Amino acid sequence: MKYPSLIKSKLPNIGTTIFTIMSKLATDNNAINLSQGFPDFSCSDELIGLVNKYMLKGNNQYAPMAGLMGLREVIAEKTEGLYSAKYNPETEITVTAGGTQAIFTAITAIVREGDEVIIFEPAYDCYQPAIELNGGKTIYLQLKAPTYSIDWEQVKKVINHRTKMIIINTPHNPTGSIMTASDMAKLEKLTKNTEIVIVSDEVYEHIIFDGFEHQSVARFPKLAERSFIISSFGKTFHTTGWKMGYCVAPENLMTEFRKVHQFLVFSVNTPIQHALAEYLKNKENYLSLGSFYQKKRDYFIDLLKGSKFEFIPANGTYFQLLNYKGISKEKDTDFAIRLTKEFGIASIPMSVFYHELIDNKALRFCFAKKEETLEKAAGILCKI
Ligand code: GLN
Repeated sequence: MKYPSLIKSKLPNIGTTIFTIMSKLATDNNAINLSQGFPDFSCSDELIGLVNKYMLKGNNQYAPMAGLMGLREVIAEKTEGLYSAKYNPETEITVTAGGTQAIFTAITAIVREGDEVIIFEPAYDCYQPAIELNGGKTIYLQLKAPTYSIDWEQVKKVINHRTKMIIINTPHNPTGSIMTASDMAKLEKLTKNTEIVIVSDEVYEHIIFDGFEHQSVARFPKLAERSFIISSFGKTFHTTGWKMGYCVAPENLMTEFRKVHQFLVFSVNTPIQHALAEYLKNKENYLSLGSFYQKKRDYFIDLLKGSKFEFIPANGTYFQLLNYKGISKEKDTDFAIRLTKEFGIASIPMSVFYHELIDNKALRFCFAKKEETLEKAAGILCKI
């Protein structure tokens, strides 16, 4: 079937997201799927029990537009407890259908035709299309390999009167790097006396390793007052399929956010919000996540020590980059496809996170997997 007149695409250069492509290729080839980031183990039975409880109790109609008050209150307590920042649940917290929706909503609420938005590459793939759909112009800066840190001198050079937004992401997908307090101080200095809004994608806030502390922009009052902070229950509670997250921001920003949110999704899943509100009261449920995933990272990289892949252990997220310079000269997209088809292991080629498809011969592997999956995967990788 075809629409009879010609459609001029609003996103002419965008195809299907790499996560969908690689997950499908993994399924079609019966490969171990370390591409799209999601756990292959179950979430807590207690949490599932709570969702059931609230469904059976009849909490099955629309939640308030901004989210269930009880959930917003525990989010406020969590944010204050962790980052000493106070957000008013009434006016400054909104529950969303996952991180991606929150990011899209924040960008849409702020960016207008001709506004410039700075993003750092390799960049998670949902930022640029959201900027473009809103008529904004994406300004691409590159993180400095091998640590994938921000070059603040470069940021200073590109900031001008059209700069409306800077999008940061820590812990960083796809590289696993983290931003430091000194990064935040530099961001604060550069945005001082400007009207720049920050979108801080912190969906991996609890997945941080080796004793590092997550540097949320919430810890820095001067940054927090110009920032949308995005978080995800999917990452934190092993429930990516529930599509639940939230955004916190000062009232004037949140007012604009909600104007978009109410016509994008109106409100999100009611029984799950009840369940999360209760489950979040036990802080261990999120505070234990760093050590839980650090064990998985260590298990995976120990198994890879005998392989020809080179790597720097990730500081956060559940992704590990592996460099295959020592194995092949193939393009990373070709190599990722070949690994899936011939070796039965799927990953994400890093070049897709660069608008110029820069190929550093690196692939991203998700280690949010059972030990047996990691063993099988490493067994294959060590033979390549
Ligand atoms: N955040 C997940 C990842 O990086 C993907 C989510 C998605 O497929 N949209 O793999």
